[in-house]
Amino acid sequence: MTISGKDFINRIDHLKSEIWVDGQKMVGKVSEHPAFRGVMRSKAQLFDMQNDPALRDVLTFISPKTEKRVSFSYHQPKTKDDLLFRKKATELWARANFGLLGRSPDYLNTGLMILATSHNLFSAKDKKFGDHILQNYEYAMEHDLTFTHTFINPQVNRSISYLEGSEENIAAKVIGENREGIIIQGARLLATQGGITDEILVLPAGGNFIEEAYIYGFTVPSNAKGLKFICRGSFVNDEDSSFNSPLGSRFEEMDSIVVFDHVLVPWEKVFLYKDLNIVHRFYSGVNFNTMLLFQSVIRMIVKTEFILGLAESIIKAINISEYQHIQDKVTEIIAALEIMKGLHLSSRMNAELDEWGTMIPDAKPLHAAIHYYPRVYPRLVEILQLLGGSGLILLPTEKSFESPIRKYIDTYLQGSNSAAEDRVMLFRLVWDLCMSAFGTRQTHYERFFFGDPVRLAMGLYNGYPKKEYTNRVEEFLKEDV
Ligand SMILES: Cc1cc2nc3c(=O)[nH]c(=O)nc-3n(C[C@H](O)[C@H](O)[C@H](O)COP(=O)(O)OP(=O)(O)OC[C@H]3O[C@@H](n4cnc5c(N)ncnc54)[C@H](O)[C@@H]3O)c2cc1C
Repeated sequence: MTISGKDFINRIDHLKSEIWVDGQKMVGKVSEHPAFRGVMRSKAQLFDMQNDPALRDVLTFISPKTEKRVSFSYHQPKTKDDLLFRKKATELWARANFGLLGRSPDYLNTGLMILATSHNLFSAKDKKFGDHILQNYEYAMEHDLTFTHTFINPQVNRSISYLEGSEENIAAKVIGENREGIIIQGARLLATQGGITDEILVLPAGGNFIEEAYIYGFTVPSNAKGLKFICRGSFVNDEDSSFNSPLGSRFEEMDSIVVFDHVLVPWEKVFLYKDLNIVHRFYSGVNFNTMLLFQSVIRMIVKTEFILGLAESIIKAINISEYQHIQDKVTEIIAALEIMKGLHLSSRMNAELDEWGTMIPDAKPLHAAIHYYPRVYPRLVEILQLLGGSGLILLPTEKSFESPIRKYIDTYLQGSNSAAEDRVMLFRLVWDLCMSAFGTRQTHYERFFFGDPVRLAMGLYNGYPKKEYTNRVEEFLKEDV
């Protein structure tokens, strides 16, 4: 059953997960903490949208089990129309935050859905593991749970030959098991929104598989005993003023290191355990990445639309549209937008059913998009900076407009067709996307959120079907003129 925004906030507050911010263990309600208040409200808005009668049909479907409305993000697509349903819903949610919430609930709910539809894979050696992922998915769907996830070990030593040999565990590993479950000790990085989701999905991290203790996959409630989220410094900037921090005050998601201090993960939450075969099949056979990319590319399109809107607004504010290089720069944004839209459309048009009956978008254009966007996004940000010039630096605060100095600001910071206050609000918005700590993190997010761009490119190169093209070259070379 879909929950309301208030239900979401109450549920996360009640968890009382162990969250550390600025060296302090969180006490009181996480939803009232300055580092989390804004993002939790923005997420709450998404849950409320699901219950809005005008949007309900776009954002929910009837659960086949309980016949209650549940979130679109848990829906298993079986036809191309189902993919269109998913696309429209994802787009609607992304537009509510301009694509700035990388971890809106649909991201990992989609991941859980695809794991569950492939549950037979996890049952290969022991049926219970497949059952566990299915049961956890069904529970999450019926209770509208939200997840964060982690699939990376701490960045201590990334050398190819590195094998962890320290006395104290660094990368999280299984150190024991008993009748109740498995015991995990060590750390994972990083979990965006760590501590403000119901559960965390933990996937095999790669690298260390020479030892079975590193081969596991499970979900665990964020308030499990011994689970700690150590947050970075907040990038909200000014949580009291949406004028000063238009984006940070609403959409700062927070990132955290996840520490497992002897965390007992109940067996019923474990879906992958000490089975290297399944890990290999998981990466090659389960369409986990493809479905996550289907969601992510929509978010990126919405974000690019936002950037285009910002660019045009700057141009109007200071009247620079007549210059060819300005038009050329905005055309770069338009081209990026159309490329991303085309790639997404192509993935949907060429979708095919997988062996478990799920309609899977064509992975190739989606992988092309995740190759392209981390490279073009920094350029889009640079274009906004080049259009804005000093306007992105001369940004008086909200209080300046309430002070006796206002009359000067009103005169000297007005726009070609706008009052100074409106012009400063616009430029602050652009600054928060491309120059504040919040904005710089957004750029870093687009570069890395799906993995290291270099290794993603290697994956695309190695997996892309190229034979047909080399064949054509060979045929031509054989031709006798
Ligand atoms: C803002 C942000 C949010 C994120 N949120 C999440 C999240 O919610 N959940 C999650 O699980 N992860 C998250 N990530 C982590 C993300 O998955 C990783 O950043 C990404 O996989 C790269 O890993 P790394 O950061 O450890 O970089 P590294 O792997 O340490 O890479 C550092 C540099 O070394 C190079 N390098 C390292 N090893 C190799 C190699 N074997 N071959 C070639 N080059 C190599 C890389 O190319 C890069 O230049 C997030 C990251 C960011 C920046």
